[in-house]
Amino acid sequence: MEASKLGKLLIISAPSGAGKTTLVKYLLTAIESLHFSISATSRPMRNGETNGKDYYFLSKEDFQQKIKENAFLEWEEVYEGVFYGTLYSEVERITSLGYHVVFDVDVIGGLNIKKHYGSRSLCIFIQAPSIEVLADRLRKRCTDSDESIKKRIDKAASEMKFASQFDLILVNDDLGKAKEDIVKKITKFINEL
Ligand code: ADP
Ligand code: 5GP
Repeated sequence: MEASKLGKLLIISAPSGAGKTTLVKYLLTAIESLHFSISATSRPMRNGETNGKDYYFLSKEDFQQKIKENAFLEWEEVYEGVFYGTLYSEVERITSLGYHVVFDVDVIGGLNIKKHYGSRSLCIFIQAPSIEVLADRLRKRCTDSDESIKKRIDKAASEMKFASQFDLILVNDDLGKAKEDIVKKITKFINEL
């Protein structure tokens, strides 16, 4: 890769259930020069997740210790009592290998990363066609309790208000089209000087 093209930051944010994990996973297979920023979280591991691959799973105490040490580029208490954050060391790990970094973070975290990196970053807001569709996707995903789904839907309504602050809004209705669109936009951005 040419030096001028190194180290772009691709921020993908959305209300939970809009399809960002699906789109991020696809992006990572479609564009070789991207690497996923593994966040830290204090939430329990879900079935099928791996520590150090999906997240760095930390106890709440260890997470709070890292906050004190200023180890985070950004962190949020995304749900009451549940912390998520991006470690500086993770961004350094990826950029030092010469890759572009893909972040899957909540809406506030995404805007904070954008503030930090400015035009070197592109922030994309993934939107479900409606709150009803989002709720339906969360139920069908079968990964969260009814209470957790309710919390995610309540939060989605307030997160939608931030959409206009993003560089791009991508509606994830037809998955095939959303995949094609996101690859096009990101390919264009990483190839710009
Ligand atoms: P998020 O990471 O934003 O919480 P996921 O990627 O886990 O969302 O998607 C939520 C659920 O919706 C998953 O079960 C996924 O397979 C499904 N899904 C994602 N995109 C679409 C789409 N365009 N149409 C229908 N189902 C979708
Ligand atoms: P989940 O529990 O479904 O994996 O993620 C819940 C929410 O936390 C999602 O909106 C996800 O994008 C967000 N999230 C994951 N990692 C981070 C992070 O490092 N920082 C912030 N601010 N949010 C994150």
